[in-house]
Amino acid sequence: MSKQNPETKSIRTQTERSEQREHSTPLFMTSSFVFDSAEHARALFANEIEGNVYSRYSNPNTDEFVAKMCRLEEAQAGVATASGMSAIFSSLAALLEQGDHVLACRSLFGSSHQILNGILPKWGIDFSYGDIDDPESWEELIQDNTRVLFLETPSNPGLDLIDLEWAGQLADAHNLVLIVDNCFATPYLQKPMNSGADVVLHSATKFIDGQGRGIGGVIVGHERYIEEINFFCRHSGPALSPFNAWMFSKSLETLPARMDRHCSNALALAEFLEDQQNVEWVKYPFLPSHPQYKLAKKQMKQGGGVVAFNISGGYEAAKSFLDKLDTISLSANLGDTRTIATHPASTTHSKLTDDERAAVNITPGMMRIAVGLESVEDLQKDIDQALN
Ligand code: PLP
Repeated sequence: MSKQNPETKSIRTQTERSEQREHSTPLFMTSSFVFDSAEHARALFANEIEGNVYSRYSNPNTDEFVAKMCRLEEAQAGVATASGMSAIFSSLAALLEQGDHVLACRSLFGSSHQILNGILPKWGIDFSYGDIDDPESWEELIQDNTRVLFLETPSNPGLDLIDLEWAGQLADAHNLVLIVDNCFATPYLQKPMNSGADVVLHSATKFIDGQGRGIGGVIVGHERYIEEINFFCRHSGPALSPFNAWMFSKSLETLPARMDRHCSNALALAEFLEDQQNVEWVKYPFLPSHPQYKLAKKQMKQGGGVVAFNISGGYEAAKSFLDKLDTISLSANLGDTRTIATHPASTTHSKLTDDERAAVNITPGMMRIAVGLESVEDLQKDIDQALN
């Protein structure tokens, strides 16, 4: 079964069906499950037999969603969580101890910075940032107590890349647990487990849902790490609702088809933006002008659904551009069918200091376009009228 292609895996991985013989996955909207007898209850709690007990621990809908993600990412095991941030926090909290150190890539989503800067230090867990353009320096940042290497590639919002094969070798050489946030690429475009990642996580809120309807997350990886993360999640409780799991599992059925279109629209829009006079630079992994274009071609199937660009005129020009958009929405999400424009410096990355933003190239004129599935001609027209 694991030999199937992603288009088939994302549709033909299913768990429970009831006596009604549903074709589509039914929704198991229940907090708990009934025991056949007192002895059945005892045996389930003693782990002598398998079965659902309580939806904080397991549920057929979350099981199906996780099973699909494991097959798509080629991972052994997984856990679903209530959000992408709870996937990140739970993985770090489960695998780290007081006195440990994390080496992370500096180009990270804003709230991931907040976990490293503002939350983990409360429990004596320290961190260092490695810079994308200076991979040789990363080895020097590894300390005796470094336990985790945490990366995001492509990064939000700057679309910086990290060579996953290089990262896998670095983690291996220093006995680090390699955790990769694969939210921007999805398993359809990139499979970090095949380059040496130990744990791969996602905000399911983005391309996995694909329709801007629900918040959720998922963590997959090697059994030994997922066991520790599952223990943390089971008892600390960031469980995904069965309804959202049902929705995400249905959404995965169209992930390959949607990603093909997100990527072709994004590439066409990136090329269009490169020709605009008021645009100083455009960043998209599959544009030959991207500084890591060769790497993008090596490790990604296509360039993804997000384009970044810089408007000449800084924040004032960015505000004017946003306010003139008509078809494209102003929102802070991405991965939706609807194209979204975001100004990272004043929204998703506003909690970083000016220096921290400058270090990852989040300039006052930078825009992030999460390209949706509309006609690319209509998107180009909207951008054209707002820019010029
Ligand atoms: N990781 C990345 C790369 C993201 O872009 C986001 C959200 O934008 C998250 C994690 C957090 O996900 P959520 O909003 O589902 O908690």
